[in-house]
Amino acid sequence: MNRPVFDAHCDTLGLLSDGIDLNSQQTEVTLSGVRQYPKWTQVFAIWLEAEAMDIDKQYRALYERYIQKTTEFHSVLTKRDLQATSPLKSILGVEGGDILKGDISRLQTLFDQGVRLMTLTWNTPNELGDTNKTVRSPSGLSPFGKEVVRHMNRLGMAVDVSHLSDRGFWDTIRVTTKPVLASHSNARGVCQHPRNVTDAMFLAIKRTGGGVGINLYPPFLGEAADIQTAIAHILHFLSLGGEDHVGLGMDLDGTGGRLPGGFSTCKDTKALFDALQQAGVSEEIITKIAYTNMERMFAKILPA
Ligand SMILES: [Zn+2]
Repeated sequence: MNRPVFDAHCDTLGLLSDGIDLNSQQTEVTLSGVRQYPKWTQVFAIWLEAEAMDIDKQYRALYERYIQKTTEFHSVLTKRDLQATSPLKSILGVEGGDILKGDISRLQTLFDQGVRLMTLTWNTPNELGDTNKTVRSPSGLSPFGKEVVRHMNRLGMAVDVSHLSDRGFWDTIRVTTKPVLASHSNARGVCQHPRNVTDAMFLAIKRTGGGVGINLYPPFLGEAADIQTAIAHILHFLSLGGEDHVGLGMDLDGTGGRLPGGFSTCKDTKALFDALQQAGVSEEIITKIAYTNMERMFAKILPA
């Protein structure tokens, strides 16, 4: 069954170019695909390769693509925008606090440009803190990282801990006054991958009023990595009392085409809902996972 969808992470902007847009059928998130659903709200991430030379240039290129190529989406800047009648809505995110270059004033600039979510780190340590890619004794949030979390809370930007080191995660939990998101991370209780969250981390996220977005990248799902595996992660979070704290962050266009069997584009999202139904999850809870949980969390985070 098709339902409203709220997806907290895709890397589609990185694939768009002069010749490729959301109508080109060369991306996993397409206009024709999202239009098969009654509503679709999409967080588009500006992914930054921190080690590449000019991070501002990378940011500007993807920001321009967002402005030019998502015009069919109502851009969500405030809590009120979440209620706009447009069936398609977009939220702009940045993946990698590297973009701040250690300067807190740059956060206001991002906010002014419409950024409403920031993944504190990607896979390399930055001025904010260390990542869950670091093998040996990763450190936590730096004093600057803590300052950034507090300032994001004040401005009304979602603090995203996917990719952050475990120590950084716990530092964030101690500092934040708003719901925290792991926008595209699964359950370590099902798949022991550092990109996923432990039960204790999930419960801490839950206490902030935040949540996780289920990621379809096979290495974060587990061995078999089919639709059922994705469902197993959701059921695990539900078993932890998470019915109000699980959503989707499918990582479409960010997995190099690697997705669970039976899933190839955003059109297939309904397969998750069908599988949840078959697993005995109630209609009410499926609707929460598909849309309303993420919508509620963003309503608590965004400015009025
Ligand atoms: Zn990511």
